[in-house]
Amino acid sequence: METNICPVCHQPILPTYYFCPNCGAKVNEPPLSTSAGTQALIYLESIVLPIVLFLFIKKWPGVKYFKSKDPKANRIGQVAWVLLIVSTIFVIWFSYVWTEQAIQSSVDSINTDFNF
Ligand SMILES: [Zn+2]
Repeated sequence: METNICPVCHQPILPTYYFCPNCGAKVNEPPLSTSAGTQALIYLESIVLPIVLFLFIKKWPGVKYFKSKDPKANRIGQVAWVLLIVSTIFVIWFSYVWTEQAIQSSVDSINTDFNF
């Protein structure tokens, strides 16, 4: 039987293991669940998430303040808009970096699979 070595505790482990039975270290990326329940949850989140975001933006007081004739309230609205834009850019940038890393790590795990 072909065996691998756990990178953490250096015990021999089977190549089919996702976690080291000795120390519990993750030795392989477990496959994504494709069960009906998981699918339903993913689809449900895809539907609910935009609705939730839409409701949040409607409740967001920044729009009201930005439209206000009162200069002080208008100033608050402007700051709120800037913060919203900065945080949006940050989230987009972060999700971009995160996606890049996720792709890189899955490429790495595919490479590791071929080494067996
Ligand atoms: Zn181990």
